[in-house]
Amino acid sequence: MLVVMQAGADAAQVENVVAAIRELGLTPHPLPGATRTAIGITGNTGAIEPERLQALSGVLELIRVTKPFKLASREMHPEDTVVRAAQTAIGPGTFTIIAGPCSVEGEDLILRTADFLVSRGVRMLRAGAFKPRSSPYSFQGLEFAGLDILAKAREKTGIGIVTELMDAAHADAVEQAADVLQIGTRNMQNFSLLKRVAVSKRPVLLKRGLAATLEEWLMAAEYVLAGGNYQVALCERGVRTFADHSRNTLDLSVIPPAKLLSHLPVLVDPSHGTGRRAFVPAMAMAALAAGADGLLIEIHPEPDKAWSDGAQTLDFDEFDKLLASLRRMAEVMGREIN
Ligand code: PEP
Ligand code: MN
Repeated sequence: MLVVMQAGADAAQVENVVAAIRELGLTPHPLPGATRTAIGITGNTGAIEPERLQALSGVLELIRVTKPFKLASREMHPEDTVVRAAQTAIGPGTFTIIAGPCSVEGEDLILRTADFLVSRGVRMLRAGAFKPRSSPYSFQGLEFAGLDILAKAREKTGIGIVTELMDAAHADAVEQAADVLQIGTRNMQNFSLLKRVAVSKRPVLLKRGLAATLEEWLMAAEYVLAGGNYQVALCERGVRTFADHSRNTLDLSVIPPAKLLSHLPVLVDPSHGTGRRAFVPAMAMAALAAGADGLLIEIHPEPDKAWSDGAQTLDFDEFDKLLASLRRMAEVMGREIN
């Protein structure tokens, strides 16, 4: 359910409606817009008698939201959400590049990559300190020491940090080091983890589950929004199909329906999406063409020596070439690379 306030409604009128919703035992979510405020309602809205809220001063109309995801839906929030982190705005008009190695391998690698990215005007670095690996015998990440390295890179270079949170027990530490909390594909439906990031002050980058439908993905985002964290960006990273020519099948076709149904920005990860570095540039360009809001992309000065995911990782020269192509295409599309 959505209460749309009149354009001229003042703060007291909005507060009055918010209080009335609480009295009904439901949760109000004020959503200020460019021209008017709307108030989303979650909880069991089946029992609401619309007349009761309709009659309050400043209320324009009540709309029933038909989708199972409410706060994530465009019905509830027609304007595109802008996710703000580390001097970057992920959303309309921009195309945000987030790049870095798969894993934090050490201080040298992270500082060198951060310096390189800053010199190229890229404002966000990605790298995992806690790594979800298929094998328990593979490198699991530098964990807390990795977070310290990321924090140091931010302090030294000012770059924003995106890193994965795998376990709610690590949330406080990851929040300290990161500007954006990444929820990995394997945890998209880890509901206790989603509830934890829902009460975080940090934006969330929510990767699509390995076999998640768009609705399941948006319902996962709904957990975060429903808990009060409205700063969520989605990230398509490929799904599991019968195809064996690539690591996953990068589902760029999910971008238009995701944008139709939801106001949340959509990023694309062509690295995990393809698993092969030769395929990454084409899919990165295609993501921009398809309307994505940015990229999450794996780079490393020496990909063949990377401790994880080297096969899908670009070296700095390859990244430079891709960035130049993206800039040309973004200009044509009226979007600014940030
Ligand atoms: C990653 O970004 O390094 C990662 C592990 O991604 P995913 O959760 O998409 O596999
Ligand atoms: Mn990786």
